[in-house]
Amino acid sequence: MSTNNPTATEETHFFGDVCKNFDHAAQFTKHDAGLLDQIKSCNSVYRFRFPIRKGNGFEVIDAWRVEHSHHQSPTKGGIRYSEMVNEDEVMALAALMTYKCAIVNVPFGGAKGGIKINPKNYTVGELENITRRYTVELIKKNFIGPSIDVPAPDYGSGEREMSWIADTYATMNPGQLDALGAVTGKPISLHGIAGRREATGRGVAIAVRECVSVAEDMERIGLTTGLSGKKIIVQGLGNVGYYSAKFLSEFGALIVGICEFEGAIYNADGLDVEAVFQHRKSTGSILGYAGAKQEFKNTMEGLEQPCDILVPAALENQITVNNIRNIKAKVIAEGANGPTSPEAEEIFYQNGGLIIPDMYANAGGVTVSYFEWLKNLSHVAFGRINRRFEENSNLNLVNMVEGITGIALTPIQRATIVKGASELELVNSGLEDTMIRSYHEIREIYKSNPAIGTLRNAAMVGAINKIAVSYQNLGVWP
Ligand code: NAD
Repeated sequence: MSTNNPTATEETHFFGDVCKNFDHAAQFTKHDAGLLDQIKSCNSVYRFRFPIRKGNGFEVIDAWRVEHSHHQSPTKGGIRYSEMVNEDEVMALAALMTYKCAIVNVPFGGAKGGIKINPKNYTVGELENITRRYTVELIKKNFIGPSIDVPAPDYGSGEREMSWIADTYATMNPGQLDALGAVTGKPISLHGIAGRREATGRGVAIAVRECVSVAEDMERIGLTTGLSGKKIIVQGLGNVGYYSAKFLSEFGALIVGICEFEGAIYNADGLDVEAVFQHRKSTGSILGYAGAKQEFKNTMEGLEQPCDILVPAALENQITVNNIRNIKAKVIAEGANGPTSPEAEEIFYQNGGLIIPDMYANAGGVTVSYFEWLKNLSHVAFGRINRRFEENSNLNLVNMVEGITGIALTPIQRATIVKGASELELVNSGLEDTMIRSYHEIREIYKSNPAIGTLRNAAMVGAINKIAVSYQNLGVWP
């Protein structure tokens, strides 16, 4: 029998960093101290342990679920599978979820889960046991449900784990019509939604595109506008990093560097993201990829290579006072949660940089999770009811215009105009709209008062104001 107790040395100060950001932003709001304290605090922290069978014996697994804020219901947030996970980290990530949802106007409170394991050390069967038992523990304490708390994937988890959670929840709640809305990030075959897998990375790419389109801001930091030809380094080639890199290159940027666990690769003329991904899939490493001009065994060196934009998309605390002065990028777009320490951020801004904060930059995932939850509650795929009707209406219009003008459209033009939207197109359009509107909402706050100083502060000010209104409207009872 083995245990894997967290030790004091493993604890981080991530939640403290998030609270520091909160306190700083709170100065620019007019709410009373008690209300601010209620917004900032984690409402419920559930820490638990459960056994699984391992070999001929047992192993005890440490796990958490934190519901940070109930100003909206349900609460929402991913589950992290990592041997580094600890209570402080889960609290920090839950708090970030609260602010993130407020920033992109998704009506959820923030939550997060953690299972302290390295998935690579377990068989698929053992991972299934761990995930199902974790779910049962949440059910026992009323910490999961479509109107209570809705998990999603995070670092180390994906569609497979979400399927196990959905099945466990549905099995334990027979006849509950909305059971599949208890978790998002499910595969499409299990009532997931088109576009969820790539949503966070797509959102990061849209956030970067929007940021670099603002001439005034680009002039201040010494970059030209537009993504075309911008040199970008991405850290992490997992879900967020891979899709961020993929969509950024589709938008015209050059991915010049990729950093992973095992090292980093660089080519100032650009790397083929898909080819690097396939190379890693077949060899287990990004190193050795033929299209790289430089390789670094120390992955952190990869972050310091020449580029315009850096996208940390792996884990927190990657950019600190120890390396910020070596970062060449002018823009840091935080795909990961908490990759930049507050001290490093201050230095980066002083040196003329700009950070697109995690709370906004990686909110594409929760935005599309919201769409998935809506789909599960309505029990119908987006576009299913209106698609044919839309196509017929468009066809009538095209026929009428052709009749009046006497100009016949080409078959391709006709098909493009007539076609009704698919679920994927609707999801991507909703995501794009959310990311663009939210960016300008944040930027307006940023520009409204020079003392606000950073986009993170501005995003936080906006989030605090929205959450404060919810709490004030709800009142306190009992
Ligand atoms: P993932 O497990 O799919 O990928 C993470 C990748 O980072 C892996 O390929 C891993 O090998 C790599 N990595 C780990 N340590 C590294 C290091 N030191 N240097 C370089 N690479 C390293 O996880 P993910 O879902 O992509 O999540 C990444 C980050 O994005 C996390 O901070 C997570 O909280 C955040 N996030 C994820 C989502 C989502 O929808 N998945 C949404 C919002 C935020």
